[in-house]
Amino acid sequence: MIITIAIDGPSAAGKSTVAKGVAKKLGFVYVDTGAMYRCVTLYALRQGVDCQDDEKVVSLLKDINIELLKDGRVMLNNEDVTKEIRCQDVVLNVSYIAANKGVRLFLVDLQRKMGSNVSVVMDGRDIGTYVFPNATVKIFQVADVHERAIRRHKENLLKGIECTLEDVEKDLERRDYIDSHREFAPLKQASDAVLVDTTHMSIDEAIDAMTNIVLNKVGNINGK
Ligand code: C5P
Repeated sequence: MIITIAIDGPSAAGKSTVAKGVAKKLGFVYVDTGAMYRCVTLYALRQGVDCQDDEKVVSLLKDINIELLKDGRVMLNNEDVTKEIRCQDVVLNVSYIAANKGVRLFLVDLQRKMGSNVSVVMDGRDIGTYVFPNATVKIFQVADVHERAIRRHKENLLKGIECTLEDVEKDLERRDYIDSHREFAPLKQASDAVLVDTTHMSIDEAIDAMTNIVLNKVGNINGK
């Protein structure tokens, strides 16, 4: 039986770390859909295309090939861009790219193919509402914006990215606003999603909580 787990929620709520952990525990494939929107953004920036010019961005899609490797590497046209898609230029522009309907249709098609014949844990903004409306389990992961900003600020400093906590918080609020107010497939909780607030949870607690939600819904998977 193919099981699809959708984890949606606002930026920097820790979705990817938790989704990866849940996938590892259950032996499922992890799909980071945010990385795919970041790849398109990076490609458009490299081509010198304005990320808010929807038509021009759509005209680039035919030249874009994205692969998410099992070891976590993100490949854009056979180049490892795992680190580069996390840079500030991409962060500042990705929400515009994600509001582009043509880009979304292109990536959603890929995402559906990725989840068509294996069990996946897929994280994003519209997985439970649009990509897999019939997902086996839907989770909406939230955390207080200040707490999210503190976590992201720490990560940035560790990566050598200079920024203030205030700027990080403002950027998260800006991205969440654009993501939840776009016309096509906006960020919102699916009516049948379980809400998990990880503000006061450690990573391990969040992984355990979500794994339990999955196991309660689908029963034991391979004795796990
Ligand atoms: O999850 P991550 O922060 O890497 O996603 C980057 C951006 O991609 C988000 O801010 C959002 O604009 C967009 N996104 C989306 N739908 C998804 C995944 C990501 O719109 N399923």
